[in-house]
Amino acid sequence: MRQDPIIIAGGGIGGLAAAIALARKGFQVTVLERASRYQEIGAGIQLGPNAFHAFDRLELGDAARSIAVFIDRLRLMDAISAEEITNIDLTDYFRRRFGNPYAVVHRGDLHGIFVRACEAHANVTLRTDCDVVGYEQNSAQASALLKSGERVTGCLLIGADGLRSRIRQQMIGDGAPRIAGHTTYRSVIPTEQMPEDLRWNAATLWAGAKCHLVHYPLSGWKVFNLAITCHNDPAEAFAARPVTHEEVLAGFRDVHPRAKAIIHHGRDWKA
Ligand SMILES: Cc1cc2nc3c(=O)[nH]c(=O)nc-3n(C[C@H](O)[C@H](O)[C@H](O)COP(=O)(O)OP(=O)(O)OC[C@H]3O[C@@H](n4cnc5c(N)ncnc54)[C@H](O)[C@@H]3O)c2cc1C
Repeated sequence: MRQDPIIIAGGGIGGLAAAIALARKGFQVTVLERASRYQEIGAGIQLGPNAFHAFDRLELGDAARSIAVFIDRLRLMDAISAEEITNIDLTDYFRRRFGNPYAVVHRGDLHGIFVRACEAHANVTLRTDCDVVGYEQNSAQASALLKSGERVTGCLLIGADGLRSRIRQQMIGDGAPRIAGHTTYRSVIPTEQMPEDLRWNAATLWAGAKCHLVHYPLSGWKVFNLAITCHNDPAEAFAARPVTHEEVLAGFRDVHPRAKAIIHHGRDWKA
């Protein structure tokens, strides 16, 4: 079992977390990433205490805590009236109760921690430009089949190749992801451009009619992450598509001016 490497298709947060966990158990691991370098797009990610328990098990807890903003509240706001509906205190009691904090981090920073841990571990081989198009297996081995024609063989294969996984498609064949009918627009803005009265140390969700808006501070309070969603039934799925300010606003016409101010301060929106 420990002779052949374990093959992992996909070097996102999931694939690299699996790689470092297996490497620390003594397995040889080869990660096959389609992109030409290991990087994470997108901005903020919220992490509950369970995520930090997992990072601790991977001996990466301190590194993850060092890039986190420890928000002290989850706030639910009414996007029509601009009144607070409720909030959850995330400070001392919460941290004691769950043994770790609730925090927000930049995806790129978190992914970078996993990349560096894998690069530093002798048991992990990180490969790029490896587009996995399928697999073959027998009772002893599994092979990832690359678009280039290469076959990478190991004792087992883990599919961590994301939402449109080729491994899952071949193994389970349950079709393309369902289009939920929601569009999320994302922007990251310098903290000084965030309306001053909304610079809360909180992950805040404004709930409106067929829309919601989320914001929180990131990267040592240098920036605010904005992720706003409306239910506009797009016909097709897309990712990281640049959109105009007007297109973004269209889904949020009825929200309170205080919530709308968040949209006006957004820059370089992507859907
Ligand atoms: C708007 C939004 C907000 C979110 N917010 C949160 C949050 O706050 N907290 C949270 O915990 N989760 C959040 N999530 C979910 C979280 O982002 C995902 O669960 C997580 O990123 C999945 O990681 P992954 O490594 O499995 O897949 P991915 O991040 O998709 O990584 C897959 C990797 O595989 C590679 N790949 C793809 N196809 C192939 C192939 N054929 N061959 C080789 N490599 C391939 C890709 O290039 C990529 O590097 C959010 C998701 C969205 C869309």
